[in-house]
Amino acid sequence: LPIPNITMNDGKQIPQLGLGVFLVEPGETERIVTEALEVGYRHIDTARIYDNEAEVGAAIAKSGIPREELFITTKLWNSDQEDPHGAFNASMDRLGLETVDLYLVHWPIPEFGTALGAWKGLIEIAETGRATSIGVSNFEIPHLQQLLDETGVVPAINQIELHPLNQRRALREFCREHGIAIEAWGPLAQGKSDLFERPEIVAAAATHGKSPAQVILRWHLQHDTIIFPKTTRRERMIENADILDFDLSAAEMAAIDGLDEQHNFGPDPSTFNRR
Ligand code: NAD
Repeated sequence: LPIPNITMNDGKQIPQLGLGVFLVEPGETERIVTEALEVGYRHIDTARIYDNEAEVGAAIAKSGIPREELFITTKLWNSDQEDPHGAFNASMDRLGLETVDLYLVHWPIPEFGTALGAWKGLIEIAETGRATSIGVSNFEIPHLQQLLDETGVVPAINQIELHPLNQRRALREFCREHGIAIEAWGPLAQGKSDLFERPEIVAAAATHGKSPAQVILRWHLQHDTIIFPKTTRRERMIENADILDFDLSAAEMAAIDGLDEQHNFGPDPSTFNRR
C-alpha cells in the first residue's frame, strides 16, 4: 500500500511514515537504512547529533533510488545555532547530498537566545533551494510565537515528543491554527513505558489482528501526525509500515485519546540546554 503524503504549508509533500535513526550506531546505520529502503521506506529522519549522517548518505548513494523519491531530514544542533550556514554545509557534505528535504532547528534553548538567529539562517538556506522545506523541533508555543512575530515565516514542521501518554493538545492546536504540520518523536514512547500493555491498546490490537505498536502508530496517522518509529530490526520495519490496511474506529481513537498523562519521557524543551 502506498504511504500517504501530508502537504506542508509551503506546498511540498512529506511521506507520513519514515524511519528515525536516533541512537542507531554509526557502524550499523548503513545496513539499517539500506534494509529500510529495501522494504519500501522512502523517508529518513537523522540529525547532526546522531552522528550517522555520513552512513545515511552512504546507504542512499548505494541504493540507486532516484533522489526525488526520497525524503531526507536533518537538524541543526544546539551548539551550531550561531552558525547555521556552516553547520548546514557540513551536514550536506556528510550526507553527500545536493539538497535536503527538511532542515530543522533541533531545540529552542531559550537560555541561549540564539534560536531566532538560527531560524533566520534557515530561511536564507531555504532561499538557496538547498533545503526544500524548513522547520523546528521541540518548540513550545512561546518559542513558535517569537519566530512568527519576528520573521513572519511559519515553520513547515514542528517535531515534538508525542505519543498516547503525552498528547500535547494545546501545542497541536496552535500548530493546526498556524498550518504547522506535526511530526511525533518517540511515537512509541521510546519503548520506555507500559503503553503496549494498556487495555485500550491491547483491545484494539486484538480486534484488528495487529500488534500494539501497529495500533499506536495507526492512531498517529489518523491524527494526521507524521511518524518515523525507530527500529534496527528488519521485521519490525515491515511491521511498523504495515498499518495502512485498517482503520481505528472513532471509539478506539477516543479510548486512546483518553490515555493522555501529559508525561514526557524526554527533556523539557523550556530548560534543555545541552551543547
Ligand atoms: P520510538 O518511540 O520510535 O521508539 C523506538 C523504540 O521502540 C525502539 O528502540 C524499540 O525498542 C521499540 N520498537 C520499535 N518498533 C517496535 C515494534 N514494532 N514493537 C515493539 N517495540 C518496537 O522512539 P525514538 O527513536 O526516540 O523516536 C523516533 C525518531 O524520532 C528517532 O529515531 C529520531 O529520528 C526522532 N527523535 C527526535 C528527537 C528530537 O529531539 N527532535 C528526539 C528523539 C527522537
